[in-house]
Amino acid sequence: MSIPTNADVVVVGAGFAGLAAARQLESLGHDVLVLEGRDRVGGRSSTTTIAGVPVDLGGTFVGPTQDAVLKLAAELGCETVPTYCRGKNLIRWHGKVRSYRSTIPKLSIIELVDVSRIQWRFERLRRQVRVSEPWSGATARKLDQITMERWLRSVHASASTRNLMAIVSRVTWGAEPDAVSMLHAVRYIRAAGGLGRLLDVKGGAQQDRFPAGTQQIALRMAEELGERVVLGTPVQRIERRPDGGVVVGYAGGQVSARAVIVAIAPQQRAQIAFAPPLPTQYTELTKHWPQGTLSKAYAAYDKPFWRAAGCSGEALSDEGPVFITFDVSPEDGPGILLGFTDARAFDPLPAEQRRDQALAGFARLFGKAALKPIDYVDHCWGTEAFAPGGPTAAVPPRSWTTYGPWLRKPVDGIFWAGTETADRWTGFLDGAVRSGQRAATEVAEALASSS
Ligand SMILES: Cc1cc2nc3c(=O)[nH]c(=O)nc-3n(C[C@H](O)[C@H](O)[C@H](O)COP(=O)(O)OP(=O)(O)OC[C@H]3O[C@@H](n4cnc5c(N)ncnc54)[C@H](O)[C@@H]3O)c2cc1C
Repeated sequence: MSIPTNADVVVVGAGFAGLAAARQLESLGHDVLVLEGRDRVGGRSSTTTIAGVPVDLGGTFVGPTQDAVLKLAAELGCETVPTYCRGKNLIRWHGKVRSYRSTIPKLSIIELVDVSRIQWRFERLRRQVRVSEPWSGATARKLDQITMERWLRSVHASASTRNLMAIVSRVTWGAEPDAVSMLHAVRYIRAAGGLGRLLDVKGGAQQDRFPAGTQQIALRMAEELGERVVLGTPVQRIERRPDGGVVVGYAGGQVSARAVIVAIAPQQRAQIAFAPPLPTQYTELTKHWPQGTLSKAYAAYDKPFWRAAGCSGEALSDEGPVFITFDVSPEDGPGILLGFTDARAFDPLPAEQRRDQALAGFARLFGKAALKPIDYVDHCWGTEAFAPGGPTAAVPPRSWTTYGPWLRKPVDGIFWAGTETADRWTGFLDGAVRSGQRAATEVAEALASSS
């Protein structure tokens, strides 16, 4: 099939943001073309199988208040199931395994009091940060000068609290607390509705999952759009024309359009050459909005053997590479453990060692039976050949207050989407959908006012 040379709107990237934008514009009667660099749709949502059961290598869970992605999934006929959470959770801390029942593990009384104190301080800061313009609040500059680690030390958080927050930082941003701006951390948590919403299973962001995987949502959007989605076509160039239109170039061709939505992670915008060059703030932003890196390992067993021992499959560990686990077994069939792994230690290892280390991590939590899976799969997002990194941006100090205003500000027919640009549930599938819909509305308004 030849790629059209004209469209009303070109969308760069067929992740949840790009496809949601294209879907909305198409429903408004616009002629849309989506150009995707990979040979698949879904971006950071990618579903594979283990022991014949679908599992997500990237985005997996959804929860209450993530209304945009839940509505979209329902419209497309994609069903959710609750995340299994019956029984006791486990924590391996300083070499010992203990059990607990809520989100916060059973630490000593002193440690627990400290965790609650830090949570309370986070909540207080949360109210001071403006989600849509975080650079403008009274405390913005102060919070953006320091990393989360420095803030934790400044409020005398105990070593255990800092270790727990390091786990939160790793799984949320794919980065250590000393890499993330405190302003970014507080804004991100506010955009999710608080620490509880972010971390909980019941009532929180891990409450439900899609038994057929999250990528089916992207596949169904792409199916609706049909030939308007072109795979294996990385966009290399975006030219702004004097008449207000754009020319979007890829290897071997180009498309003229009235507008373009760039629906990719901010860091990846640097791979596109803009002509004339974008104002400096836009180019500097791409250098100061790095992606974190997070990896995942799945092991399948004949049965979810940990359930027989009264365990939920949910666990935390201060010893890598597996630092958080969940039970994502189907209703009937094999038992499946999901482990988030620390990319720094995990990604450089050869495949066999990654497998050995992940299984050893599961075994330290759930016993020796974990060493004998019937199937295993892992994925390292930081080492992807195209558009590497994930789950989301790990924004360092001074980026928000220096470049924040340009994160999604349209410039001459170029509009910006992607979960990093969302005000609610930024970093999540829900934020991606919201950002795509917001950019589509901006484009539709701009096209209406220019014609
Ligand atoms: C390990 C992991 C676990 C996660 N867990 C969860 C979870 O449980 N729940 C949740 O809600 N979220 C989770 N997320 C985050 C979620 O997956 C993302 O927020 C979401 O998928 C981002 O969507 P997006 O459309 O903004 O960006 P992307 O999915 O990154 O889509 C951008 C697309 O643009 C393409 N692209 C990039 N550059 C170009 C170019 N130059 N030309 C053409 N195409 C280009 C990319 O290939 C990609 O397909 C997780 C992510 C990871 C990696």
